[in-house]
Amino acid sequence: MRIAALIVAAGRGTRAATATAGPKQYALIGGQPILSHAIRAFARHPDIHDVTVVIHSDDVDLYGKATEAVDRTKLSPPAIGAATRQASVLNGLQSLAPQPPDLVLIHDAARPFVTATTISNVIQALRDRPAALAAVALTDTLKRASDKGLIAETIPRANLWRAQTPQGFHFAPILAAHRRAAAAGLDQFTDDAAIAEWAGLDVAIAEGSIGNVKITTAEDLALADLQLTRAFEPRTGTGFDVHRFCEGDHVWLGGVKIPHARKLEGHSDADVVLHALTDALLGAIGDGDIGQHFPPSDPQWRGAASRLFLEDAARRVRARGGRISNVDITVLAEAPRIGPHRAAMQSLIGEVLGLAPDRIGIKATTTEGMGFTGRREGIAAMATATVLLPAPPE
Ligand code: MG
Repeated sequence: MRIAALIVAAGRGTRAATATAGPKQYALIGGQPILSHAIRAFARHPDIHDVTVVIHSDDVDLYGKATEAVDRTKLSPPAIGAATRQASVLNGLQSLAPQPPDLVLIHDAARPFVTATTISNVIQALRDRPAALAAVALTDTLKRASDKGLIAETIPRANLWRAQTPQGFHFAPILAAHRRAAAAGLDQFTDDAAIAEWAGLDVAIAEGSIGNVKITTAEDLALADLQLTRAFEPRTGTGFDVHRFCEGDHVWLGGVKIPHARKLEGHSDADVVLHALTDALLGAIGDGDIGQHFPPSDPQWRGAASRLFLEDAARRVRARGGRISNVDITVLAEAPRIGPHRAAMQSLIGEVLGLAPDRIGIKATTTEGMGFTGRREGIAAMATATVLLPAPPE
């Protein structure tokens, strides 16, 4: 039994957009695009074999970014959507048709909190029905109002359900139903269960969950972000590094090449700023230090650009589902002056770590002529980094 998940992410909906420009499915909650949470929920479910996302043709780059930090083992290349949700789903189903799965679960990208239990419930319901949707029973009392804004009647809520996704189907009949609907010029169905109903398929109800909300408004987005951010705990790490001067005409600091009367001696490019920063990030996640991951004895790191070390530390943070909150660096040197190069360092570090400049502190001090930095024997740097890691379940 092969089960595919088809995640619909081709919409242009920007109602939820606030600080984030662009379609809402790429807005960040808990530091990651809404879409990537939805992909993860299906990719990690043991019964799902394949995950295909239907995207807008303008969103290829956004999609690439959204899938950077997800396990791609089950991820197929994306399908390209069309003008309506219904037509986008049809494109997605057609993309699966050459190697048809037995079952397909169609899910809206804007529902990032779908649980494994809900997915299992839908799959279970498909054992003896051709179609099933996740739904929750109504708990609010329903009223119908008159045009004057007065209550006209109370509607009994027995047998009323709120439809969610995923909606699951035996693959062949839902593909046939979608093709027939398109051929008949019907293009305004708002969910796939409605097409199944129209085609005469029995649609079963599977227990959904209250938390499986659809993010539609800016308020939904803020609440979803809060929900995920609360589940993070801050971790702080520190780093310190020193390199001595030798003959040369430039130093590398913070990934920036700065002309200087001497250079710093080291196995790599001897960038004390990036080394201290890399150690601070590794420290925050308790993952050893730079020397452990990139031993100076290993010839492949001779003359290496230290940006590589920082990129590796950022990858290690992401691999734990973490996000970097801010970093702060102090350079200890009599010379060169750091101020003129601060913006360039912030730009490079920001690019590697995905941080805005106001989350990257870069400061410098002399040591008033005292000690080894005061005697201009070398340069030292210290750094702290704060990382938000998913809190362990209580
Ligand atoms: Mg070093």
